[in-house]
Amino acid sequence: MTNPLDELVTKALDRRPPTREEAARVLGTEFDVLDVVAAAARVRRHFFGNRVKLNTIINMKSGLCPEDCTYCAQRLGADSDILKYSWVPPEEAATAADAAATAGAKRICLVASGRGPGQRDITRISDTIEAIRAKQPEVEICACLGLLSEGQAQQLRGAGVHAYSHNLNTNERRYGDICSTHTFTDRVSTVREATSAGLSPCSGAIFGMGETDEDVISLAFELLELDPDSVPINFLIPMEGTPLEGQWGLTPQRCLRILALYRFFFPDVEVRLAGGREIHLRNVQALALHLANSIFLGDYLTSEGQTGDQDRQLITDAGFVVEGTEETTLPPERHDLVTVRRRGVGTDLAPNV
Ligand code: SF4
Repeated sequence: MTNPLDELVTKALDRRPPTREEAARVLGTEFDVLDVVAAAARVRRHFFGNRVKLNTIINMKSGLCPEDCTYCAQRLGADSDILKYSWVPPEEAATAADAAATAGAKRICLVASGRGPGQRDITRISDTIEAIRAKQPEVEICACLGLLSEGQAQQLRGAGVHAYSHNLNTNERRYGDICSTHTFTDRVSTVREATSAGLSPCSGAIFGMGETDEDVISLAFELLELDPDSVPINFLIPMEGTPLEGQWGLTPQRCLRILALYRFFFPDVEVRLAGGREIHLRNVQALALHLANSIFLGDYLTSEGQTGDQDRQLITDAGFVVEGTEETTLPPERHDLVTVRRRGVGTDLAPNV
């Protein structure tokens, strides 16, 4: 009889997601956590080898947000002792991006608090990208600016943004429990807008907010519908001064099972181990690298991560290597089969007949 975990590996290599029942078994206690990790690690190795992509966050505007996401220290009314500032100048962001890229970061994530960007903010991001490109022409730029209005995704694409990040964070059923100022549907619409404009969609989750196994599984299916290129997996950093302060329900084993499950759901997608890695995985961070193929280097939006040297040592010690800028992250058969038409009508080139 085939081992159920082997069966999940076979499905993942064929890019077929688990059923709800199979997913529940991964999260439950039937299988030893090391067996689950070993199985999902085979999928990770198949599509991404031993490469780890490094990303870095630049918080362009911190705090003072009018939205009320309960997990966020930048939310309206949060009593958190975080840095609060308005937009950092392009040169300052470019200097930070340069340092991160020199240290191995392949993607720079430009993040700003707020419901969504205004026209001046789009201009600020454009100027920042120009300043970054002057120092680091090869680096990928991701923007994470909240809900997008019509046409803004195209503007960002025109400004040189490669990817747009907008997490679903939790599943639709629970969304109203974590935020009252915008909806799950708002978030889905923004990810779809970004995708339609040709931006690489990045959308993921935060776990540790009181969700059940069913919620974890539902969110995986909801994210699957968006066909993201990258899926950041955050584990709640329960910042003081937020409604979720003191929520320390996650264990390292739970985090590993969730990461393994998301690898089965997103076999050839960049699964990014994001916020909360150090505080929740603690001494088993290295095991998590066998599941995720991407991590953040350095600090998060409002809290500090471990040092860059510790991250690089972690990668080396676990037998992985930092992915270079010349390497393609996603497997070629994923999206590179589609070639955007550049010939025939609407161009100066002859039609392909
Ligand atoms: S997650 Fe974003 S939108 Fe929500 S409160 Fe924080 S900064 Fe504002």
